[in-house]
Amino acid sequence: MILYRLRCAKGHEFDSWFKDSKTYERQEKKSLIGCAVCGSDKVERALMAPRIGKKGKDAAVPATVEPSAEAAVAPSPEQQQIAALARHMPKELREALLKVRAEVEKNCEHVGDRFADEARKIHYGESDKRGIYGETTDEEAEALAEEGIEFGRLPWIPRGN
Ligand SMILES: [Zn+2]
Repeated sequence: MILYRLRCAKGHEFDSWFKDSKTYERQEKKSLIGCAVCGSDKVERALMAPRIGKKGKDAAVPATVEPSAEAAVAPSPEQQQIAALARHMPKELREALLKVRAEVEKNCEHVGDRFADEARKIHYGESDKRGIYGETTDEEAEALAEEGIEFGRLPWIPRGN
């Protein structure tokens, strides 16, 4: 004999003895078990597998939803690697360019937008030979190059950025 705690559809709980679990299952299937309180034949075991299974299923729903939602938002390892490179490379480039800029500023005279004029004067000996830096337009730069005046261009990036 085994004692089962049963519960009907209305929530009444009661204990009932059965010869064995198979007897209970057979009686339960045939709705032969009536609620001890209200007589309802919709009775199930109040403890053990059915309830635990239901709880487990309920708990599993958010657990399965969350990781997939996260995966949709979080970048893949490949994307993260590319993003890391994109962050890394410009920084190194920026530092290199800042070094060049510092060298130029230390050793050359800033002539601002008079760069093309000054470069020409230096080239033709009208001005002291020295290093200068400044800004010029594409047209002027082309003209200087055609005249055989040596100069270089570099991306003038802002400091402290
Ligand atoms: Zn009942």
